[in-house]
Amino acid sequence: MDCGIFGVYGHREASRLTWLGLYALQHRGDEGAGIVSGDGRTLYQRKGMGLVAEVFPGPESLEPLKGHLAIGHTRYSTTGASVLANVQPFVANCKGEPLAIAHNGNLTNTYTLRRELERTGSLFQTTMDSEVIVHLAARSDMGSPVERLIQALNQVRGAFSLLFATKDEVIAVRDPYGFRPLSLGRLDGAWIAASETCALDLIGADYIRDIEPGEVVVFGDDGIRSFFPFPEPPRRAFCIFEYIYFSRPDSRIFGDYVDKTRRKLGKNLALEHPAEADIVISVPDSSNTAALGYASRSGLRYEIGLIRNHYVGRTFIQPDQTIRDFKVKVKFNPVGGVLKDRRVVVVEDSIVRGTTMRQLVRMLREAGAREVHVRVSCPPIRFPCFYGMDFQTHGELIASKRSVEEIREFIGADSLGYLSKEGMLDAMPGNPEDYCTACFDGEYPVEVEEETGKLRLEGMVL
Ligand code: 5GP
Ligand code: MG
Repeated sequence: MDCGIFGVYGHREASRLTWLGLYALQHRGDEGAGIVSGDGRTLYQRKGMGLVAEVFPGPESLEPLKGHLAIGHTRYSTTGASVLANVQPFVANCKGEPLAIAHNGNLTNTYTLRRELERTGSLFQTTMDSEVIVHLAARSDMGSPVERLIQALNQVRGAFSLLFATKDEVIAVRDPYGFRPLSLGRLDGAWIAASETCALDLIGADYIRDIEPGEVVVFGDDGIRSFFPFPEPPRRAFCIFEYIYFSRPDSRIFGDYVDKTRRKLGKNLALEHPAEADIVISVPDSSNTAALGYASRSGLRYEIGLIRNHYVGRTFIQPDQTIRDFKVKVKFNPVGGVLKDRRVVVVEDSIVRGTTMRQLVRMLREAGAREVHVRVSCPPIRFPCFYGMDFQTHGELIASKRSVEEIREFIGADSLGYLSKEGMLDAMPGNPEDYCTACFDGEYPVEVEEETGKLRLEGMVL
């Protein structure tokens, strides 16, 4: 799943801080949210479907979540259906002690592991990939929860940034490839772990460093312990799509600010695909920063040509015909005065299915735009993601079978330019070879078992 995770150790307001942290990570998942806290004796939990503010409507909802440690999760399902049983943190009893898990990422050998576990008697409660970790830990005969978890994690493959809570410890783990981000922070002597640093900012915590790929950090009574118990992989595989679309621009991930990287994507896009136009607009909010980069490098004026309605919730009821089109319309409205008679460059961070752009181009023309030039701040997405992004089949990707010219025709733009892979990698901080670019080039850093697809586990539940 691509999700947000947040944890606190050693603060008397652990659950309240986690609640705030989840607010800042809401963009990483809005299907469900949960918090589990611990006080040294046991764990307390509350979770539900919906937004953080719906699941935790006020301070009263946090009162039962006692203790000095807590972990929380905002869910965006990529494995497992959108149902309450699949909301995290997931809590189980493991060797007589409660254990909670919050997972961001997708495992790639779940089906094989689960089939084997069920064959030998495991009774699964959810259809989430993450649950296999708990079952594997329960079967371990190692002495401590940390050792059991490490033994379990040595058997899973794929992408995982994880937080665990036992009654008296918080454990943070990042897979050896480092697919998903995870940062470490400090507040009033307490330790914080968060998917993105924007969550540290909100609670006033200092950013210390990233949790490293392959690192396990244990927060407990005697401070923090860090170790690297997994075999060293042949490479790193930071999800490049976190920089392109998923993370917030005000966050620091994989060692740099998302804002800086995203602007650079926009600048490189302007160099590769200039346009004869009057103005540059973004598709708010996800492409704002790339559009700023495009405007500054091209010298074209940046304008606000689309207004986004921020109150469109998940539960918005659409009339059944033209569902997708209507969804776009309810979310964006063009600004007539800005667009009328203008030649417009629209910068978009990514085209996945193509339905958003097709509808937007039509709306921009209806608002009077004379020409519409679409520029995309990443290459065509031709391959599904099995490590946590919400496009897991070839069929749903418009670029998997169509050329750029065919896509231009489909969306109805006057011109269409995608950033090249080289231009994208040039914008990335650090070593370009450290990034996973599988959705663009099909080079999967971690092997994926055959039985894939979001709901593949559903049939295994009675
Ligand atoms: P589409 O081409 O699928 O109609 O929509 C692309 C838009 O969705 C872009 O504006 C992009 O910001 C956003 N987007 C990109 N990746 C994802 C994703 O994995 N999930 C969702 N919900 N939106 C995405
Ligand atoms: Mg967008």
